[in-house]
Amino acid sequence: MADTTFTPTGKHLIAGEWVGGSDTFRSAPLTGEGFDVARGTAADVDRAVQAAEDAFWTYGYTSRETRAKFLEAIADEIEARGEAITAIGTAESGLPEARLQGERGRTTGQLRMFANHIRSEDYLDIRHDEALPDRAPLPRPDLKMVQRPIGPVAVFGASNFPLAFSTAGGDTAAALAAGCPVVVKGHPAHPGTGEIVADAILAAIKSCDMPAGTFSLIQGDQREYAQALVQHPLINAVGFTGSLGAGRALFDLCAQRPVPIPFFGELGSVNPMFILPAAAKARGAAIGEGWAGSLTMGAGQFCTNPGIAVVEKGAEGDAFVAAAKTALEAAGPQPMLTDGIADAYRSGRDKFAARNAVSTLVKTDAEGRQATPNLFETDASNYLQDHALGEEVFGPLGLVVRVSGVDEMAELAKGFEGQLTTTLQMDDGDADVASKLLPILERKAGRILANGFPTGVEVADSMVHGGPYPASTNFGATSVGSLSIRRFLRPVCYQNLPDAVLPQDLAKA
Ligand code: NAP
Repeated sequence: MADTTFTPTGKHLIAGEWVGGSDTFRSAPLTGEGFDVARGTAADVDRAVQAAEDAFWTYGYTSRETRAKFLEAIADEIEARGEAITAIGTAESGLPEARLQGERGRTTGQLRMFANHIRSEDYLDIRHDEALPDRAPLPRPDLKMVQRPIGPVAVFGASNFPLAFSTAGGDTAAALAAGCPVVVKGHPAHPGTGEIVADAILAAIKSCDMPAGTFSLIQGDQREYAQALVQHPLINAVGFTGSLGAGRALFDLCAQRPVPIPFFGELGSVNPMFILPAAAKARGAAIGEGWAGSLTMGAGQFCTNPGIAVVEKGAEGDAFVAAAKTALEAAGPQPMLTDGIADAYRSGRDKFAARNAVSTLVKTDAEGRQATPNLFETDASNYLQDHALGEEVFGPLGLVVRVSGVDEMAELAKGFEGQLTTTLQMDDGDADVASKLLPILERKAGRILANGFPTGVEVADSMVHGGPYPASTNFGATSVGSLSIRRFLRPVCYQNLPDAVLPQDLAKA
């Protein structure tokens, strides 16, 4: 399909069939006409989850090579629809064409990375303690351990990554690689993008002869069916990317189930950046300009947006602030993902502006779905007393926290909540200060970087995209990179079982 057109039907994909519904909502793309989208119901959820459970008895026992080929087929099918995906994704999200193209490459790259990852059995962490029949006082049994897929899982994508953190995004790729069927809760901000990607997955299911229930997508814009999905007794885990409020509500529902299940929520973060003294002196203005660029990229709609900059009081810190201010004042409006996100951004800005001991450095305004940057400043003691200043405002909003010296920088660092990332802007003369901060920062963040900005998240074996709560609801996990497969696996120990009955990955160990 080299065609750029795709006409969405607004239907769910449930166990290989496109299913409509009488209750619909109207999609709201930035450009072009909206269309009617079916609203999922608890009955749709039940049908999809039951089919996923049926599929698991086959899909969960496929060979690693079979699943690798399936993941590659999904990537190929996405590429075959590439132009059409970019067209509908751009219209729905307002993100530029180049961004959608890049995100598509990331999405297919993730699928292929997982294909290669499971071809090697390392991820199974196979262990074998051989029997010691003559051990005294008691003999040791033969013990073998392997990671097994957990069964059907639910996936919620975020609005700001309509491809890489959505229908066939990292959570779906990791779960399918592990051997778990997936039921996706479609994001109402990009239902057409979700549908065309689901169509690509369906084509791969057919060409690879996978069970129909291996993947389902249920569209909708209402909470009830999303809640029914995480509460369904046959769902074993949830991969969620989104806001703290929604993530926490769903996490609590998972914990309250008669059989609680893990909820892997990747939530928002303010990603503090520390400008250490030598770096501030040598290149404070350049860092300020770079920060403004990072803060406004994609209208600031990144979970890794570096929303807080920490810098010493005095002339060097002033040069950083002045450069950031000038660059932010010059930045024009950019469209946000939805009207609701744009409204939330403006109300977040107004709440900041109204706080005690916060000065407004840049205050701009834009109408409708557009957003412009805003910049505020406070000091460390006020920040530490005012919990609200640490909350994510999703969009191009920055807060500078001025400190009296490196000791206060360390005190401030101790006061931060869990973060996805934290950044040190440092030069050679800053190594001692960085060493003092590092033990604090590694208790706070999933990824710590020196220089540069945190918005790019490499898909790699060593990547950690997660962090202590509230950055994520499970600090032992990552949602990006090959390690993310571990969320959908469970270790099982087999004691004295003969090879003939062991899982195929273990039999030869
Ligand atoms: P969102 O508003 O939290 O929505 C995420 C999903 O949850 C949507 O499908 C939404 O559907 C659903 N939802 C929201 N509240 C719910 C509730 N109470 N019960 C059941 N379902 C509910 O997030 P978003 O606007 O899509 O994404 C932006 C946020 O994601 C930002 O905070 C950003 O930092 C974060 N994010 C995090 C990462 C990461 O990896 N950590 C990556 C990207 C984005 P409805 O709209 O239909 O309710």
